[in-house]
Amino acid sequence: MSQPLVRASSATIAPVSLLLLVDLDGVVYRGADPVPGVAAVLAARAAAGDDVVYVTNNSMHYRADYVTRLEAMGAPITPDTVVSSARATALYLTEQDRPIRRAFVLGAGGLEREIRDVGIEIVTAAYAATRMQQEGIDGAAAAGSVDAVVVGLDPNVTYLRLAAAADCIRAGARFIATNRDPIYPTERGLRPGAGSLVAAVEATSGVTPVSIGKPAPRLLEIAARAVGRRARDAIMIGDGILTDLAAANALGARCVFMLTGVSTRDQLRGLAAADQPVAVAQDAAELAAALETLAASDVAAAAPA
Ligand SMILES: [Mg+2]
Repeated sequence: MSQPLVRASSATIAPVSLLLLVDLDGVVYRGADPVPGVAAVLAARAAAGDDVVYVTNNSMHYRADYVTRLEAMGAPITPDTVVSSARATALYLTEQDRPIRRAFVLGAGGLEREIRDVGIEIVTAAYAATRMQQEGIDGAAAAGSVDAVVVGLDPNVTYLRLAAAADCIRAGARFIATNRDPIYPTERGLRPGAGSLVAAVEATSGVTPVSIGKPAPRLLEIAARAVGRRARDAIMIGDGILTDLAAANALGARCVFMLTGVSTRDQLRGLAAADQPVAVAQDAAELAAALETLAASDVAAAAPA
């Protein structure tokens, strides 16, 4: 082993790699339109060695769907670096001490596919509801034995699908929610979010679910683990006070708060000092500058005294 000729100084230390957990809607894009410049900022950070993982409470899409869309915007992405609440829920199901082999799923096609992908057999709410109606049986009998009931946003929800979910929970299945966002904003207005369906099943069954999505810490923890890192070391880049910022604060992670989405600077002013984000950015240029500053402070913290 040869000794290095020059002792490492702060000038020669390898840059510290940031872990960026990036919300999608309101940060990378708004509805169908990219937020100008954000994809390029993330691409530059990834090229410099940072880990970029996307985290979204949206449970309706399969992760490959995001790859196509984000690649078209120039954002750095692979199927393993987008962790939706659907994907995180599927991974959570595989981590339980009491194994979950068969799950009842009330949700969209992307959620069903993510859960199948991890090797869990699913029974759809649509299937159970059809049997209830045709055979005059209850939801637990229609679904057969299930270890868990997963509820996300089901755009085709019906009264019997909700009834079937509650029946299975009353029969002993564990209750897991992808997220509890009460509202799902769309271009045609505010629609019920997964949380509104979860609330109906909770009220009907009398059981409170484990929730995976933001502001619960699990989505960010699972996303960080996807690249072998710890969530508390992450920088959350998000536009939601009650979701992104709250989840980061719950983990002791830093948050760069974007004003490109649903929140305003005035709303941030109402928060206690301890709950404020480490930086606020109103566009891609301010995001780039904030990340530059945070990266420099991490390098300084890692340098020998
Ligand atoms: Mg958002």
